[in-house]
Amino acid sequence: MDHLSIRYLKGVGPKKEAIFNELSVHTVRDMLYYFPFRYEDRRNVRKITELKVNEPAVIKGKILAAKLSRIPRFANAKRIKSIFEIMLGDETGAVECMWFNQEYLARQLLAGEELMVYGKPTYKRNKLRIVFGQYYRPDKGDSLDVGRIVGIYSLAGSLTQKFIRKIVRGAFEQLRNSLADPIPFYIRKEKDIPNIMWSLEAMHFPNSWEDSQRSRERFIFEELFFSQILVYLRKAKHRLQEATSFTFDREMISVLRRNLDFTLTASQEEAIRQITSDTAQSYPMHRLLQGDVGCGKTVVAAFAIALCARSGLQAALMVPTEILVYQHKETLEKMFSGLGFRIEILTSSFAAKDAERIYEGLRSGAIDIVIGTHALIQKDVLFKRLGLAVIDEQHKFGVAQRMLLPKKGNNPHCLVMSATPIPRSLALSLYGDLDISIIRELPKGRLLPQTKWIKESQRAEIYRFIGQQLRQGRQAYIIYPVIEESEDEDLQSLETMYVNISRQFSDFSVDMFHGKLTAKQKQETIRKFREKKIHILVATTIVEVGVNIENATVMMVENPERFGLAQLHQLRGRIQRSTHQPYFILISADDISENASRRLKAISSTNDGFLIAEDDLRLRGPGDFFGELQHGLPNLKIANPLRDLEVLKQARLYAYRVIKNDHSLEKLEHRSIKDYLEVLTSAFQPQHAESVTN
Ligand code: ADP
Ligand code: MG
Repeated sequence: MDHLSIRYLKGVGPKKEAIFNELSVHTVRDMLYYFPFRYEDRRNVRKITELKVNEPAVIKGKILAAKLSRIPRFANAKRIKSIFEIMLGDETGAVECMWFNQEYLARQLLAGEELMVYGKPTYKRNKLRIVFGQYYRPDKGDSLDVGRIVGIYSLAGSLTQKFIRKIVRGAFEQLRNSLADPIPFYIRKEKDIPNIMWSLEAMHFPNSWEDSQRSRERFIFEELFFSQILVYLRKAKHRLQEATSFTFDREMISVLRRNLDFTLTASQEEAIRQITSDTAQSYPMHRLLQGDVGCGKTVVAAFAIALCARSGLQAALMVPTEILVYQHKETLEKMFSGLGFRIEILTSSFAAKDAERIYEGLRSGAIDIVIGTHALIQKDVLFKRLGLAVIDEQHKFGVAQRMLLPKKGNNPHCLVMSATPIPRSLALSLYGDLDISIIRELPKGRLLPQTKWIKESQRAEIYRFIGQQLRQGRQAYIIYPVIEESEDEDLQSLETMYVNISRQFSDFSVDMFHGKLTAKQKQETIRKFREKKIHILVATTIVEVGVNIENATVMMVENPERFGLAQLHQLRGRIQRSTHQPYFILISADDISENASRRLKAISSTNDGFLIAEDDLRLRGPGDFFGELQHGLPNLKIANPLRDLEVLKQARLYAYRVIKNDHSLEKLEHRSIKDYLEVLTSAFQPQHAESVTN
């Protein structure tokens, strides 16, 4: 019954059905899970003389008079065709209530009848009146809209609050308690969680604030519990898979260390130790390597890659941009020199015959290590024996894309890397099926950028400062907020900027860098920048990901108010790789929005990626923030992992116990979990069908 389409509910025709579908409401169950986002207390009946302007209230009285006036066409600009007015009186006084363009009311609300109205009184010509109040007639039975705590839903199309309440009410009546409770009875009993039907009722039509709160808590637990069940199921599944373990080669490890011109930080050592022990197992590693921009994740991955290649297996490293492909190639070649691994790259700008050569090498097993962009997950790419899949900057890939690379092998070990640091407990729940390594510290001796937020009026001054830095031998980026790189108009403004900067800094060499350059041009520009033949690079955010040029220690960002917090932090990461003092300069318009101003304040006040991520979460709200991070779990609708951290921990514990004792969910008491998982996974499956382009 609950999986029936809403089409079968009374009052839902094809048009309304389409609108509900847009809101992801397809079944009767979805309808019941379409919760109000807030509530209004419409219980307090006020005497008419006690009404106060702008204070919503319910009044109850008798219709003393009713009048419908039609307004001739063109008589007013607001397209009001009719006004229906009544005088509603109680024993203390009378108040005018009016509705526009609802002529049918004249047939429903007749003089002499009892009526309740909920609304916000406003002042007009020295008198209070209520416009567009919610009304109900006490003689027509219980109301869903007045005289109680009333839920307010998000609307779409022609939906109204009243309509949704009516449909939800109807859904309850049609279901008559036939919805099985997804949370097993013994857990509900242990945690004193109210049952499903009671809770659903209380979400939509609460009798008191206490009931409303209790039901809310139940659904927060329910959401988190099921997300954790999924996490543990996935984890259990990993454990059952068979992977080829890597052989540990102490000799090789010391060669790798010798090839580095620095010593690893303690966190890097720890992460390498964890990876070494994971990959020695006969089931696949699923590990997330987290750490702020510039903390040195690449070398850690390099150890895993070397272990893999030494074990006679192939390793694939997928990165979001071509520049990173070349950069990582350089890093790995240096680190692996003398080890005799064959390293190749693959990007989508390869000519067919070059690509074919790589495909062949991967198929035959001649290539040990491949570094590439999305090109790696195209169907032509086949491996002889893929042993390790590494995904760098994982947030730049869609969930589906991330899952495609490991599928090219027979349960390869997986390492994903992310520069969005979030608190451990949160990470555990979002990526719960992954084990987590966190790199806490930046390499020693790094100077953190000083961030300056200035206004347009200080531009000349900051140009002088940049000039000084350049004369001291440093290099600079000037970042331009091109939102959509395909828009020619945007590129034109980048070019204008470039011409301007070239004129301002005529003693120096200035160049441009953006997404429209060919792969060759990009490489060439980055090489020249690295060789200090270019002093200033006027660029789009394409440099945001991973570009690594130590001598470039100045970055100026134009219109930083157009960037998100995380993105600004990523950009800043480009200039914290040097032993010279880096400067991060934000030059904003003089007049920017409140929210943008808070972002710029946040980025100016700390270099700590964890704090930035928390601010980002606060400013953007959990839906947006977690949407990007989530690892293929259903969206959370009312739970907020940060706010509900305690509930999350509990839910996690219960989920762990369930899966530990019954990982195939065969026990009778877990039947409801199994059934509900089917509902959940079928509902979020379509989101996996992200297109794989490039
Ligand atoms: P991210 O974690 O952002 O991917 P990278 O791996 O690109 O950072 O490393 C940034 C820079 O730091 C690279 O130039 C790398 O060689 C250097 N690096 C990495 N680890 C250390 C270390 N322990 N000491 C000094 N420099 C290091
Ligand atoms: Mg990196």
